[in-house]
Amino acid sequence: MPVYSYKCRKCEHKFEKEMTISQKEENEVINCPECKSDNIFQTFDRVGLLGGSKNSSCSGSCPADRSCCD
Ligand SMILES: [Zn+2]
Repeated sequence: MPVYSYKCRKCEHKFEKEMTISQKEENEVINCPECKSDNIFQTFDRVGLLGGSKNSSCSGSCPADRSCCD
């Protein structure tokens, strides 16, 4: 299931939420887990790429699409 990153505009709390594609397409209302505000926006920090799953030696010389890193 894809994980989406969100940030709350009210308290600036960042959180992630697992959602199916269909849930996302239905624009399910998401609330901040801290302050319960629905004034949130999606962020794209690519947190998933920092976990070390990529080959660290495969960086500078990679093609733009990074197809060799997966
Ligand atoms: Zn909040």
